[in-house]
Amino acid sequence: MCANSDKPIELRNGLILCFPGISDPVPHSRTLISGGSIVEINSFQYPNYPDTEVIDCSNCLIMPGLVNCHVHAAMSLFRGLADDVPLKSWLEQFIFPSEARHVSPGMVRLGTTLSAVEMALSGITTFADAYFFMEESALATLDVGLRAVIAQGILDAPTPDTRIKSSWKERVTEFLESVPVNPRITPALFCHSPYLCGSDTFRSAFEISQSHGLKLFSHVAETKLEIDEIHKLYGITPIEWLYSLGVLGDNFVLVHGVHLSDRDCRVIMDSSSRLIHCPESNMKLASGAARIQYLLEMGVKIGLGTDSPASNNNLDFFEEMRSASFLSKLSSGNPEALTARQSLYMATTQGARILGLEDTIGSLVPGKQADIIVVDLDQPHLTPLYDPVSQMVYCAKASDVRDVFVSGRVVVRNRKICTVSYEDVRESVNELAARICAHTGKRLFRGE
Ligand SMILES: [Zn+2]
Repeated sequence: MCANSDKPIELRNGLILCFPGISDPVPHSRTLISGGSIVEINSFQYPNYPDTEVIDCSNCLIMPGLVNCHVHAAMSLFRGLADDVPLKSWLEQFIFPSEARHVSPGMVRLGTTLSAVEMALSGITTFADAYFFMEESALATLDVGLRAVIAQGILDAPTPDTRIKSSWKERVTEFLESVPVNPRITPALFCHSPYLCGSDTFRSAFEISQSHGLKLFSHVAETKLEIDEIHKLYGITPIEWLYSLGVLGDNFVLVHGVHLSDRDCRVIMDSSSRLIHCPESNMKLASGAARIQYLLEMGVKIGLGTDSPASNNNLDFFEEMRSASFLSKLSSGNPEALTARQSLYMATTQGARILGLEDTIGSLVPGKQADIIVVDLDQPHLTPLYDPVSQMVYCAKASDVRDVFVSGRVVVRNRKICTVSYEDVRESVNELAARICAHTGKRLFRGE
């Protein structure tokens, strides 16, 4: 771990991008961070603070931290366990049996810690997580020093934290009572999908979310198979079904939305529901290409998500931005679709808005929380630098992120995690992975 302190921090030199997707980067003089917040942006208006840590950002771009709007962080422990199979068999043959055997509070703490370290190193400062035993996810987030929306998973079927069928309400109550109270943690709920949650479950979860002021997430219209199953059950599309239940609205966050009719898109827009696009997961599972350009032109608010590290299979958000743009261009046949600026906007400012955190993070403004990343521009793949925004989306990699600050605290410095011991995390992960191997017949390679 590297040295860390609560000293005020001065970032000096380089370029700064305060409003990604809206404004362009400009030459940077000084940005002052103190007490967790941004005090001053790109000026010397304030006198020098005593005892500040000065960080030189020459040849770097300073910008807001990235916002990953959908992940199942603990599933990093199942990464690479099963690949190259359809979603249904991936879930039913590999993931659900492994979850039934191995998901525990300790597993969620460890898997989320691993993912949070990976996300921090790739410039993600806020993520929206959805899984089981979510108090543990919150604790892991705080350990690593990130910010998160922590959504407790809800299914009609038994789950690792609700062994009795349809007992999810007790679990949600327990979660809401025990999730850590911290400005960096925002609780939420997650109904897995219309094919694993019935109408009573969606209605009840919606009522609880409304009464507690929580976001309600759900995977919706992810595969053609889901569309067929819901049509067989209810005679309508998943979006029409959710609309008929009265749950859509600006607190409802739809994840995927790959298979949407024109009417579905209009319902999403008119209900002010939010959408999370997960292009790499959709490509890997061959789910299809969401109609992002069409939805954006309609005015739907769209964020970006990696989905789980088991269906992606990494949490490199620079790759996700690039894939989102490329997939949108390919699927629409339009090279002007989902521009680099639009992708970067979705990955920062818009993501923060979708999670209800727009007053706290998402752009660099005095008074907002100092969730800031410093990207090293002195790389062959980022040279020459005609357009830094284009370079961030189409060329940059997670490994280009040099420093990461969350609420003004140093989380990553010189590409090293400062808040936890990666070596200890890796050791614990390998011990658990060996136990996962014992029942799946997989072999664990440890690089020796
Ligand atoms: Zn997901």
